[in-house]
Amino acid sequence: MQRPQQLRELFSAFAPRVISGSISHYGGLRQSAETFCEIAPASSAELADVIGTAHRHGVPVRIRGQGHGLNGASLPGAHELLLRTERLGDVRFEAEGTVTAGAGAVLWDVRNVVERHGFTVPVVNDGHAGPSVAGFVAAGGFGPGSRLHGGFWENVAAVTLVDGAGQLRRVDRDDALFPWLFGAMGQLGIVAEATLELIPLDSADPPPYPMGAGATRELIAASPELKGPGPDESERDEQLLWFTLFTPGKRLAVAQARLAALEASHAGLLDYRRRYVYPIRQRRPVPPLIYPRDEPFFAIGSWGALSLSPGAAADPLRAYAEELTRHAVELGCRRYIQSEATWDVDAYRACFGDETYEALRNLKAQQDPARILNRGAVFDP
Ligand SMILES: Cc1cc2nc3c(=O)[nH]c(=O)nc-3n(C[C@H](O)[C@H](O)[C@H](O)COP(=O)(O)OP(=O)(O)OC[C@H]3O[C@@H](n4cnc5c(N)ncnc54)[C@H](O)[C@@H]3O)c2cc1C
Repeated sequence: MQRPQQLRELFSAFAPRVISGSISHYGGLRQSAETFCEIAPASSAELADVIGTAHRHGVPVRIRGQGHGLNGASLPGAHELLLRTERLGDVRFEAEGTVTAGAGAVLWDVRNVVERHGFTVPVVNDGHAGPSVAGFVAAGGFGPGSRLHGGFWENVAAVTLVDGAGQLRRVDRDDALFPWLFGAMGQLGIVAEATLELIPLDSADPPPYPMGAGATRELIAASPELKGPGPDESERDEQLLWFTLFTPGKRLAVAQARLAALEASHAGLLDYRRRYVYPIRQRRPVPPLIYPRDEPFFAIGSWGALSLSPGAAADPLRAYAEELTRHAVELGCRRYIQSEATWDVDAYRACFGDETYEALRNLKAQQDPARILNRGAVFDP
């Protein structure tokens, strides 16, 4: 195990930085190590070189997009290299009907870029600009557009991936690995880019495809009209948390009742708001880490602002999360465990089921043979 200063020397070719002072994630429930080493590669090739070096030296790597996941899986330990994707943020129009975006591009910003050309990205997260493109893949991804267009997975044509040995390759939709990348939380490789399908804003009068156009990350950062809005004033002072169940339509009522009962028995935990319901259309196979059957389903959730301090909330939140996992298993549905407060790897096994969990473990052995990627999240370290 190497200390941050040793990692800085080992990765000196990639402009590493030793950071003092812990970082957190949206919701602030957990913290990283006080000191860690980080790198932000500027290209897919550089990303592949960094991971190849980490693989040869057995250095554990932690991957971080925008830090919007609530389960702490993007927080580095002291002996881990933090891989930030923020410089992988360019957006390109290079194949008819699609846009290719760097891993670290904020999904809402990508949508703003393509809307300038008369197209849109049909599925983005609800709320405000936050998750990166690759973070959305790593979680799975759904939003208001899922009613018509399905989950994010239905709207991605290909992913460029760097595996745990530093090999860069394109994974197309018809590749057997493709569905496993959605909801895999970086266990099977680091997403460098994703090619997203576009729809015209006006289907009656579709615009010409803007081959060769696009935007760099610097341009997006410097253009207020391309940046999506952040949380509004009231949200900025609150710690909002979510708990989602993916449930078939025939169990929607019973799932609602279970969430209502959970809220009643954890009344002081969150300042609960009206529960959300998003229908998710299904046209293609559903990623096995998201939902167990190829059928349309609903994302329903309980949410609100945390009423306790993060320290005081830890035990009650854990109890809430464990109860929710039990309900999900009993109802044959899933939690959105990839992006929400989770405490230990047993919850992943319980949610995925033994067969899917073991299949993911086998894929990981192929994709990340030295097990350097996001250790301790999903599987025991
Ligand atoms: C305000 C808010 C609203 C949200 N709304 C929705 C919503 O409507 N629908 C929805 O589906 N989700 C929603 N989410 C959840 C969010 O989409 C996920 O948590 C997503 O993973 C966050 O992306 P990120 O870039 O912040 O990733 P991070 O939090 O930085 O990382 C999350 C996970 O992804 C991994 N990861 C990050 N980048 C990569 C990469 N390049 N390659 C491989 N793995 C990577 C990390 O290691 C970690 O395991 C919301 C979250 C917030 C805070």
